[in-house]
Amino acid sequence: AFDVDMKYGTVGAVACDAAGHVAAATSTGGVTGKNWGRIGDSPLIGAGTYADDRAGAVSCTGAGEFFIRVNVAHEICARARLAGESLEVAAQAVLSEVAALGGTGGVIVTGPNGEALWHFTTPGMYRARLGSDGQRDVAIFGDD
Ligand code: ASP
Repeated sequence: AFDVDMKYGTVGAVACDAAGHVAAATSTGGVTGKNWGRIGDSPLIGAGTYADDRAGAVSCTGAGEFFIRVNVAHEICARARLAGESLEVAAQAVLSEVAALGGTGGVIVTGPNGEALWHFTTPGMYRARLGSDGQRDVAIFGDD
């Protein structure tokens, strides 16, 4: 059985430059009690990390086994690019798929126009955002 109460704490970043190029980075120590040799979703391009100028950039945190199964980061970008969904709608839909499998976690996302957003299914997710207009947001819990 997979312990969905396990603790995790990835550090991720997404960015968009003035020319609309996007990038994503994700670094993690994995999850508590992980098996020796386990590779989570973070270094798997498409699962925990993905960037495509045609759609956006995504960095994920959460129970990696579920994020791998749903291929979360790529799936969000694919829904935006191919189905025309907003990144927000796509992020919510894909994390709902993760939740339906029993996984929890969150994503930070930016689009090629610099629209930065996040979505998570945990009570909180440490997060911050800096816009090109100088707007700054720092938050921890869902209702912050
Ligand atoms: N997603 C990471 C993993 O499964 C854990 C984390 O988000 O901190 O390895």
